[in-house]
Amino acid sequence: MISVENTIRLIKENIPQREIEFVDLMDSLKRVLAEEIISPANSPSVNNSAMDGFAVRWHDLEKSSDETLRFSIIGESRAGYPFNGKMTADSAIRISTGAVVPLDADCVIPIEKCRVENNYIETQKNHKKNQHIRFAGEEFKKGQKLLDCGTQIGSAQIALLASLGFGSIKVYKKPLVSIITTGSELIPFSEKAEIYQLHDSNTPMLISAIAEAGGSVAKTFHAEDDFEQTKKVIEYATKKSQVIITSGGVSVGIHDHVRDAALELGFTELFWKVNQKPGKPMFMGKKDSLLLFALPGNPVSAFMCFKHYVRPLLQNIFGLPFDWPVIKASAKTEIKNKSNRKQFIRIRLLEVDGEKIVEPLHLQGSHMPSSIAHADGYLMLFEGQEIKANTITTVYLF
Ligand code: AMP
Ligand code: MG
Repeated sequence: MISVENTIRLIKENIPQREIEFVDLMDSLKRVLAEEIISPANSPSVNNSAMDGFAVRWHDLEKSSDETLRFSIIGESRAGYPFNGKMTADSAIRISTGAVVPLDADCVIPIEKCRVENNYIETQKNHKKNQHIRFAGEEFKKGQKLLDCGTQIGSAQIALLASLGFGSIKVYKKPLVSIITTGSELIPFSEKAEIYQLHDSNTPMLISAIAEAGGSVAKTFHAEDDFEQTKKVIEYATKKSQVIITSGGVSVGIHDHVRDAALELGFTELFWKVNQKPGKPMFMGKKDSLLLFALPGNPVSAFMCFKHYVRPLLQNIFGLPFDWPVIKASAKTEIKNKSNRKQFIRIRLLEVDGEKIVEPLHLQGSHMPSSIAHADGYLMLFEGQEIKANTITTVYLF
C-alpha cells in the first residue's frame, strides 16, 4: 500500500507532454494559452476623443487675449467617419467620444462647456492643451507583451484579442480520455434496472468531471466482469486516448480483472492500493506515455479518486497548474478521523456572519452517493487526526 503523498508524487513524475493546437478565437473560452500574446498594434491605434464635444487647435486659445472665445464649426469627426480636411484659424470640429481627433487638433472641449449657436461655438478660455484626448499607444504599444503563456482565456481576454483582430490562438490540447466501466450488474442509467442490476452512474459522472477538468472524452466502453472482455476494451481504449480511466474490477475479488488485464497488455504498475478511505483499491499503470487510472467502482470512491488524483493531472495537461481548489475555513465542531487510513471527509460549507464554516456530513459511507452530491468539498485527515472545534482547516473544494 502506498501513501497519498507518494501517489501524488508518482502521478506528477509521469505527466504526459502537453501538446499544442490552434483554435478559433470563438472556440477558445476556458482554454489555456500556449504562446505569449504580443500586440500587433498600438492601443488606441490613433488619437481619439474621450468626450463628445469639439476639437480645436490649442494655439487658437492660447493666443487669444479674450476670456470668451468663438470658433466656427467647419466639420465633424464621428465614429467611423473621421474628418479628413484641414483646420483653419479659430475653427472647431464637432467630435464624438471615440472618434478620431483631427491631425491639427490638440484640445477637445466638452459639449457641456460650449454654447452652440448655428455654426459657431462659444467657450471660456480655461482649457488645457491635450485635454480629453486618448493618445495613440497610451494603453500599450505594438510589440508589447499583453498575455502570458499559461493564461486561461475568459470573456475579458476574448474581448482584448478580438479588439486586436486575432482570429485564432495557440492553446494546449485537451487531454484525450477514454472511460471504461466494468461490472456485469450495470445497465445504462436511462434504462429500467432490475433489482439485481445497478445504474451505471460512473460513466455520466466521469464524462462531466473530465469536461470540468478540461479533458475531452474520446470514447466510452463497458466490459462485463470477464478477463478477455476487459482486456479487449482496454486494448481498444489504448489506441484512442492519452489517459484511460476505468471504474470497478480493481479490488481483490475473483471477478476483478482490470489490473491483470492491464499488466498483460504491457502496462507497468506505478502503484496499486492507496492508504486512503475511500478509494483504497486504486491502481495506476503506464504504457509508453499512456496513463491508466483504475478507480474503484463504488461511485463515491471513483468520484473522490477522480477529484484528488485525476483532476489535477488533466488540468495540468490542459495547461493549468497541477493543483487543487482550496480555501481555509473554520470547523464548526470537532472532526476526527477514527480510521487507520488517510480519510477524505466530505463536508458542507456554511456561511455564518460572513465567515465560512465547515460542517462534516453525517453520512460518510462510501456507498452513499448523497455524501458527494450534498457536499461542497472534503478535508484530508491523516489516521487518527483530530480537528478541534473553531480551528481553521484546509478545505478541498469539488
Ligand atoms: P467494484 O469496484 O467493481 O467491486 O464495484 C464496487 C461497487 O460499485 C459495486 O457495488 C458496484 O456495483 C458498484 N459500481 C461499479 N461500477 C459502477 C458504476 N459504473 N456505476 C455505479 N456503480 C458502480
Ligand atoms: Mg465490479
